[in-house]
Amino acid sequence: MDERKKQRTQNEQNERLTQGTKNQSKTSNEIVISVVIPLYNEEASIEELGAKLESVLAPLTKNRYEVIFVDDGSTDNSRNKIRELHRRNNRFHCISFRRNYGKSAALAVGFQAARGRYVVTMDADLQDDPEEIPNLIKKLNEGYDLVSGWKKKRYDPMTKTLPSKLFNFVTSLVSGIRLHDFNCGLKAYRNIVVKRLNVYGEMHRYLPVLAHWDGFKVTEIPVRHHPRKYGKSKFGSGRFIKGFLDLLTVMITTRYMQRPLHFFGTIGTLITLLGFVINLYLIVEWLLGKTYLSNRPLLLFGITLIIFGVQLISIGLLGEMNIKSKAEKINYNIRDKF
Ligand code: UDP
Ligand code: MG
Repeated sequence: MDERKKQRTQNEQNERLTQGTKNQSKTSNEIVISVVIPLYNEEASIEELGAKLESVLAPLTKNRYEVIFVDDGSTDNSRNKIRELHRRNNRFHCISFRRNYGKSAALAVGFQAARGRYVVTMDADLQDDPEEIPNLIKKLNEGYDLVSGWKKKRYDPMTKTLPSKLFNFVTSLVSGIRLHDFNCGLKAYRNIVVKRLNVYGEMHRYLPVLAHWDGFKVTEIPVRHHPRKYGKSKFGSGRFIKGFLDLLTVMITTRYMQRPLHFFGTIGTLITLLGFVINLYLIVEWLLGKTYLSNRPLLLFGITLIIFGVQLISIGLLGEMNIKSKAEKINYNIRDKF
């Protein structure tokens, strides 16, 4: 009895989901959900993943879904495995790179191809659970633009989870959004978000930050996570240093993109002032006849600070000149027009 009631509410939820909102065009074959899956040598997981996705997406979207595998230059049998899926069900697609460009590139290409009203990303290694997709979409419908998965109970080795905690803590602090898990493969977006996101290099770790700074509403929900069943992780531990460098890039190219002088100028001015105060103190001592300036190594430190500070301010000014010449190309994120 209880089971049937649960099924009924689930059906009603699906109904609402596939109907869309009033001002959305209601062509009957509109794709409701696009799932984008970057993969690199994951042949062993693909068949199982395909079956799971089918069983979740078909009832949820009334068969109005597409799954876009982006094969990031795999050298194993992944592409043929996806071809088999495609033969059985032409909602499964594959975009294949000739070489390995990285997860960010794969996501970027998948995002451009995605036609669905909602876009879900997940890893191909079965660590992310397709059964979480309805929960993510439900959260989007509460008025969010990006819902990120949070691997609350995580099944990865310590060498990965510990640095990852530090990574998430720093990113949260610097970016100003309070998320526990920035780099979860499982995420859901409104279509407009993925069309605006500019993912390249290794920026996939910062998608929530990029979306947040583009004015979108971002949140997270806990999701089930599984240990890797087949194959091995494609990311080594070197990723953390690079990850933090990327965080700098993210900050400069989002928060300070249109006002570089505020970033470089603030640090530069503080450093110059410090150098100035130090030298002023030395000059006062000298005037009072307490000591010769040639006896004070601190003088060199003060001078260095001033030179360094002025350089930083100049870099900021160069940045301003650069942005001014490109100002007409800034892509403002407009919600709607009346
Ligand atoms: N991946 C990719 N290109 C790469 C490396 C990884 O498309 O160059 C894919 C990989 O196949 C998987 C996802 O990105 O679907 C996450 O990778 P992985 O599971 O190795 O990362 P981890 O779970 O260890 O963080
Ligand atoms: Mg994985």
